[in-house]
Amino acid sequence: MLKAHSYTLAAIAVTFLLSACGVNPVTHKRELQFVSESQEIAIGQKNYAPARQQQGGDYIVDPELTAYVQSVGKKLAAVSDRQLPYEFVVLNSSVPNAWAMPGGKIAFNRGLLYELNSEAELAAVMAHEIVHTAARHGAQSMESGMLLQGAVMATGIAAKDNQYADLIVGGAQLSSKLISTKFGRDDESEADLYGMRYMKKAGYDPSAAVTLQETFVRLSKDRRSGFIDGLFASHPPSAERVAANKATLAQLGSGGIWGKEIYAKKVGKLKATKAAYQAYDNGVKVLSKGDTKTAVTYAKQAAKAVPKEARFQELLGDVALANKQNDTALTHYKRAIALQPDYFRPHVQSSIALKNLGRPAEAEPYLNRSSELLPTATSFYLLGQIAESRGDVDSALNHYKVAADSNSNDGKSSRASYARLDFARNPAKYLQTAAQANNMGEVFAVVYNPTTFSVTNVYVRIVHFDEKTRQPDRQSVSLLVAKRIDAKQRGQVALPGVRVFKQADLDLYRVIIERAALAK
Ligand SMILES: [Zn+2]
Repeated sequence: MLKAHSYTLAAIAVTFLLSACGVNPVTHKRELQFVSESQEIAIGQKNYAPARQQQGGDYIVDPELTAYVQSVGKKLAAVSDRQLPYEFVVLNSSVPNAWAMPGGKIAFNRGLLYELNSEAELAAVMAHEIVHTAARHGAQSMESGMLLQGAVMATGIAAKDNQYADLIVGGAQLSSKLISTKFGRDDESEADLYGMRYMKKAGYDPSAAVTLQETFVRLSKDRRSGFIDGLFASHPPSAERVAANKATLAQLGSGGIWGKEIYAKKVGKLKATKAAYQAYDNGVKVLSKGDTKTAVTYAKQAAKAVPKEARFQELLGDVALANKQNDTALTHYKRAIALQPDYFRPHVQSSIALKNLGRPAEAEPYLNRSSELLPTATSFYLLGQIAESRGDVDSALNHYKVAADSNSNDGKSSRASYARLDFARNPAKYLQTAAQANNMGEVFAVVYNPTTFSVTNVYVRIVHFDEKTRQPDRQSVSLLVAKRIDAKQRGQVALPGVRVFKQADLDLYRVIIERAALAK
């Protein structure tokens, strides 16, 4: 009796919530104010590729596995409430995670497939993600982001497994925001509820959504689990979710396909090579701490087990690059590119090796290709340096400007390089000036250098403005402020023959930078 009562209450609460946010409870599709359906599809099409690049790229050594995941996705998409240009990929990342982007674009990490044990569990996660995109959860949070910030930005926190998020520049920045969007609890409940309905409609046993949640609750107690940074970061498992799924199951009824054997068969190759990918992950980790010796052992172990994996060749290249063996590094990057031409990173790495070898002209095409795949501050900073070294200041400025968008070290270096190059053209844009007076009433032109570089031959003119008309009525000759002003330092020069004793009089003087040069 009590149970039945609380179910009714829950049902009323759900109906109320759905209607309160403008959702048709039958199709659960939201009517959005600013993001049209065609825009939403265009956003998905534009951002799907760069989003995959920043998550390790597509997992391509086992195309049969991808075809299998796609077939499960298609079955569920066919029974969804909204027809979209759905696409499904397996990404080459060990982090157990999956995501959906507006417009029907879905990705499953290799790391999540290790942890599942049946096609029905795969369908449970897949159906949940399909609801997120079919019900426009991502597009809706983009829209609320637009309302709040006045710009096309998704709300959300950068996912911990996205090591490239800080490096991305330009329009592709949106892609990293889209995949790190955290949905609200209502969206999550809706994705669980409709996801189980899709499972049932597609012939799967919706019980798998309950057992999977129970497994997740158990796994979430292990703080070291890779899930903490992956799926659980956006989908914290809870007893409430398990209970809600059990209630849905009671309505739908259990029974249907589990597909344990077919799943075991299809992911067999993947699970058999898990140790090689673990070795690779360890290698990347120790290399980032500078331990090239241990890194090379791990990389060789991985490459021996899966010779066709481009990421393993890339790691061998990274180790050689760290050891300043640029030619060896190039050989490995070449192999990585041959195995998987459409992943950005070995292209960037090749250009670094070529630049180290004093062959910048050969580095340029690699950087252009990598920027097409994923525009990063690293590649634009390098392009800027190469253009600058050949004396092409305009191109260098353009490249530095793009990279300056990023908060990474390469972004910071690009901002400094941009300012340095642009300074010669626009010194007044960079130097700060003021007219000041001392106790004796003598007037000085003071120049402060807020940049990161030293400047030289700083000349100013001091202009006086008429008190009434506010128009300039006289000006000094050109005055040398200082032979040299270092970064964060100031220089000054007196205006001869003038005395002021009131602030109001001093306010009538302005200091104009006439010219300055970069110190060599
Ligand atoms: Zn979700």
